[in-house]
Amino acid sequence: MKSHIGLAEWAMLLEKKEVSSVEAVNYFVERIEKNNVALNSFITVDADEARRAASVIDERRARGEALSTIAGIPFGVKDAINTAAMRSTGAAKILDNYTPTFDSSVIKKIRDAGGILIGKHNCDAFGHGASNENSMYGAARNPWDVSRVAGGSSGGSAASIAADLNAFAIGEDTGGSIRGPASFCGVSGLKVSYGRTSRYGAMPMASSLDTVGPFARSAEDIAMIMQHIAGHDPLDATTARATVPNYVAEIKKPIQGLKIGVPREFFMDELDTSIRMAVETTIKEFESLGAKIIPVSLPHTSYAVPTYYILVPCEDSSNLARLDGIRYGVRGAAEDLYHTYTASRESGFPAEVKRRIMIGTFALSHEHFDSFFVQAQKVRTIIKQEIEAVFNTVDVMITPTTPEVAFTVGDKSADPLKMYLSDIFLSSASLAGICALSIPCGLINGLPIGLQIMAPRLGEARALQCGHQFQQITSWHTQYPLL
Ligand code: GLN
Repeated sequence: MKSHIGLAEWAMLLEKKEVSSVEAVNYFVERIEKNNVALNSFITVDADEARRAASVIDERRARGEALSTIAGIPFGVKDAINTAAMRSTGAAKILDNYTPTFDSSVIKKIRDAGGILIGKHNCDAFGHGASNENSMYGAARNPWDVSRVAGGSSGGSAASIAADLNAFAIGEDTGGSIRGPASFCGVSGLKVSYGRTSRYGAMPMASSLDTVGPFARSAEDIAMIMQHIAGHDPLDATTARATVPNYVAEIKKPIQGLKIGVPREFFMDELDTSIRMAVETTIKEFESLGAKIIPVSLPHTSYAVPTYYILVPCEDSSNLARLDGIRYGVRGAAEDLYHTYTASRESGFPAEVKRRIMIGTFALSHEHFDSFFVQAQKVRTIIKQEIEAVFNTVDVMITPTTPEVAFTVGDKSADPLKMYLSDIFLSSASLAGICALSIPCGLINGLPIGLQIMAPRLGEARALQCGHQFQQITSWHTQYPLL
C-alpha cells in the first residue's frame, strides 16, 4: 500500500474499491504497532472496533449506497475529546478509567459521515502545555527526531499524521495546541474560529477560547474535513449560526490580488534566522501567486501571552472543579469527603494542571480579581480590536507559527515561563477568536518550520485557500520523516 497519501486519494481508492476500509484500518494498525512505542502518539487504540465499523462501511459500499467523501477513512482524536465507548483520559490519571457514554459533537458528525475512529491521541493533560510533556502517559515524540517534542498540547495528533498512523486527526486549540504541534511535526492544522465547530464533548479547558479542529496532510484535506464538522450545533450555544461555505470549492480560487498582511511584531530579533528566511521565501511565493504583501502592525502582540496566561488559568480552575473523584474517574482513597477530593486531585493531576488551578484561583480571588482578571479581559479586548482593525485593510496575515523548531524533550519542562513563551505567535489569534492555519513551509536540519495564516472570524475558507494555493506551487506538505 502507498504510504502518506492524502484524503482525496484515500477517498478515490475506497470509492473505486481498490482498497477496502478494513484494509485501510489494517494498514494503519500495523503502522501504529510498529511505531507507537517510539512515538507514544496514541494512548488508546481499538483495532477491533475500527475493523467492525470499517466492515459496515465496506458492506454499504458493496450495496452501492452513496457515501460521504470521508466514509471508511480511519482517523484519530485527541484524548481530551470525548468518544463514546472509547476511553477518554484527557491524558490525566484522574480519568484513567473513564469511558464516556457519548460522542462529542464533532466526532459524532464524522462518525455519521462514515469516518472510522481508530484511537485516542496523546496530549498534554487537559490541553495544558506546548510540548506534550505534561501528559501523565509520557510525552509524544516527534517523528522527525524522536529525541524532540511533538509540540503541544495536541502533540500525539500531529505526530500521528506525520508518521502516517491515521489519515486525519481531530485536535483542540485553546492557545495554539493545533498550530504548534502542526508546525513542529510538519503537517497542516487548523485552529477554527471560536464557534465555527462545536465544543460539545470536548473536555473544557478555557471555555471562551476552546476550539475543536482538524489536522491533515494538506489544506485541501482540511477543507474536506471542515465540510463535515463546521456549523451550528444545538448542543453548543456558542456555535455560530452562519452558513457553512463550500470549503472544497472555495480553496480552488486563485489568490490574485489578495491582500496579505505581515505584522512586524512577529519578526522580532529573537526569531530564529532560518525561520525568518523560510517565511520571507514564502512571502515571495505568495507574491508570485499575485497576492499583494502589506506590512502591518499589531502593537499589543507582546501582551498576548501574559493576558492568555491569566485568563486561561482562571477558566481552567473553574472548569477543572468538576474533577473531584466523585463524579468521574479515579477516586483517591481517603476517610472523609474532603480528603477524597484532595487525594483524587493530588494523584490524578500533573504539576502543570495544579499550577493552573492555583494561578486561576488566585487571580479570581476577591482581592486580586480587578487587578488580574478584569485587567486581562480589558487587554484581551484591545488585542481583539487591534486584529479586527488590521483585517479591515488586509484579507489574511502571515507569520511564523513558532519562533523555533521542535526542541529537545526536557529542554523547557522545568521552566513553565519558557514553555508559556513558546506560544508567543499563537495566543493572539486565540484571544481574538479568529481562525489560523499552520502549514509546513521549510525544513531546518531535517526539522519542519510552520507558517501561520490568520484570517478573520469565520474566514476559514480564506485561510485554507491561501494554504492550498501555496501548496500547489510548493512541496513542503508532501515531505515526511522516514521511520
Ligand atoms: N500552550 C497552550 C497552553 O498551555 C496551549 C493550550 C491549548 O491550545 N490547548 O495553554
